[in-house]
Amino acid sequence: MPKTAPSRIELEKHFGVVCISLPTPFPVGPVKVFLVKHDPPILIDTGLNSEESYGILSERLAEHGLKLNDLGAVLVTHGHRDHVGLLGRLMRETKADSYGHPLVRTLGRDADNYPQARKEFYLGILEEFGVPSEIKEEANSFYEKFRTFSEPFDLAHVLEDGEQALGYTAYHVPGHSPSDTLLTQPELGITFVGDHILPGTNPNPTLQQPEPGQSRSKSLVLYQRSLARTRELDLGICLPGHGEPFEDHVAVVDRILERQERRGRQVMKLMKSGKRTPYEISRGLFPDLPAQHIHLGLSIAVGHMEAQEECGEAHCCHVDGILQYQPL
Ligand SMILES: [Zn+2]
Repeated sequence: MPKTAPSRIELEKHFGVVCISLPTPFPVGPVKVFLVKHDPPILIDTGLNSEESYGILSERLAEHGLKLNDLGAVLVTHGHRDHVGLLGRLMRETKADSYGHPLVRTLGRDADNYPQARKEFYLGILEEFGVPSEIKEEANSFYEKFRTFSEPFDLAHVLEDGEQALGYTAYHVPGHSPSDTLLTQPELGITFVGDHILPGTNPNPTLQQPEPGQSRSKSLVLYQRSLARTRELDLGICLPGHGEPFEDHVAVVDRILERQERRGRQVMKLMKSGKRTPYEISRGLFPDLPAQHIHLGLSIAVGHMEAQEECGEAHCCHVDGILQYQPL
């Protein structure tokens, strides 16, 4: 077995794992899904619901003498569309079983209503976070385009925190998304980490649509709690949804925490210079972010503003319906 993070060739040779890169239009770049050549074969994550992803996935399986219908199961790391987009189609067209966090099941079942509810939430957030109307309109047109990247699905099995299936143990580590799950295969000494920890980049604590009657959860605060837990787990070789495999996950967690600390200081500085709304802060952090990706900047800004509030460095209030933070 390799001593350092394995190359793709080593990954296949030592672990029977084939990494398949699928395109996305998102700033994070291609998504990695994994074929595990068990008997029957398993797919970890699916890529977006697009003909291009479907075609590449079929071709890459064919290179290993497999058809999509040979898959015994699909396991998913979280409910973002670059990871579950094709799940509905695979469930329809193949006999594969499916596993994921209960929140992914809810998301798949609600997908018919979800785009409308999500859109209303998204537009409400843009309003509340002080985004100017011309940016809102542009962001909305891209939103319409992106929503086709997933379709309804029904997970056959759910994996709660600590549960095992097919030789994998699931650890629920919310923050980047509410359903983030680490899938550890202790026998092989590998873990599919999804987007929970990524090498060289900070996973975005994406804004979460609250359950009816509940308040929005603080994604970055939640994420930092999950990172503290992940740091203590034995994960072995980590296979992320974006970027290359890595071995020392503690070092990756520490680098993420360091970058978050720096970003937190930057946000405090912007607040002290008079920037108040999530939009103003996000523009201070990312002046050139295109309108189509504005929600990514907003989630980082709000995440840090909430984290500063949590540790007593800032407080928030609404002025004419717009969320504002003040340093203390
Ligand atoms: Zn992703």
